[in-house]
Amino acid sequence: MRFDTRVIHAKQPADPLTGAVNAPIYLSSTFRQEAPDRNRGYVYGRTANPTRTVLEATLAELESGRAGLAFASGLGALTTVLEAFPSGSRIVAVDDLYGGTWRLFEHHRRQFGVRVDYVDLSDPDAAEAAFREPADLAWIETPTNPLLKIVDLKAVARAAHGAGAAVGVDNTFATPALQRPIEFGADLVLHSTTKYLGGHSDIIGGALVLAKRSDAKRYAWLQNAVGAVPSPFDAFLVLRGIHTLGVRMRAHEASARAVARALEGHRAIARVHYPGLASHPQHALARRQMDGYGGMVSVELKGGLPAARSFLRRLKIFTLAESLGGVESLVDHPASMTHASVPRAEREAHGVTDGLVRLSCGIEDPSDLVDDVTGALRGR
Ligand SMILES: *Cc1c(COP(=O)(O)O)cnc(C)c1O
Repeated sequence: MRFDTRVIHAKQPADPLTGAVNAPIYLSSTFRQEAPDRNRGYVYGRTANPTRTVLEATLAELESGRAGLAFASGLGALTTVLEAFPSGSRIVAVDDLYGGTWRLFEHHRRQFGVRVDYVDLSDPDAAEAAFREPADLAWIETPTNPLLKIVDLKAVARAAHGAGAAVGVDNTFATPALQRPIEFGADLVLHSTTKYLGGHSDIIGGALVLAKRSDAKRYAWLQNAVGAVPSPFDAFLVLRGIHTLGVRMRAHEASARAVARALEGHRAIARVHYPGLASHPQHALARRQMDGYGGMVSVELKGGLPAARSFLRRLKIFTLAESLGGVESLVDHPASMTHASVPRAEREAHGVTDGLVRLSCGIEDPSDLVDDVTGALRGR
């Protein structure tokens, strides 16, 4: 089955009890046991819940993994991953990261003595060099957030495995509709399902997908031990979002492509970051590795902070808000919003300047979105 069919049918068969086509929301926190050593696979809602099971099986299938695990948030999933890396572990992370991921890595570095090296993994030489010494975990975002750099998953996974590291990929931006990191050698995929998988900006959720059976066991144990699990209602909403993932990602991309093209070369814009543009430094790699370029576009305005502020004030459809991946278009000012926890010097050193604006292109009519961004730049 192809992807658009799998997002609808790659779940467990209709509810065995009633034939319900969609997974019922099982709100029971506990389950009757036939005897102390006999149950139907469900004992207590933190450990397993039937609605969550359907979501977890669907996630595993879409990401080409062995097992999926659902969490209360993307950072809940990441916290659970970090529980597997004790004091003294070495993490090599891409240097352009979701701000909350950076904050949590820094917490583990300071509090628990985990070593974290931030490396531009989109640069093949820097990636090779980073894995010349032993490591325990490689942490990749591609496209990166917010600069939309592309990391060569196959090459970096090979180098990381050579150094003894497990390979984790935060696939929130691409989604399995556009990129399945396990097919390129990743051991573990993380999602903030808050974003494209949920797709409607109405839940906070996270997920892990594991490539190996041994990891599936270990992380399922940690999921239960840490307890950052989603409610059955949220699990249902993510499943509902996933059913339209294929069509939504195509619509997001049509919007992003139109916006990126309209802004590239605009006199008020210094630079457009979008992997679908031929001018993107890793456009060829993106074309090889991905089945599309996604809905995120970042632009660097000429005139720094005042220009960015004026642009944000004049937008009418793009709503100034954190988050991304919902049907509605959102705009973010990384330096003061999503990446405010990263110190200025560090931020600017790798290109997250005060003039940078990140657009999450929604599924409105692309022409309206182009009118909105060009209108907000008029007179500049
Ligand atoms: C939002 C986001 C996260 C964190 O997920 P939450 O659901 O907000 O906890 C992690 N990684 C990326 C790329 C994100 O966009």
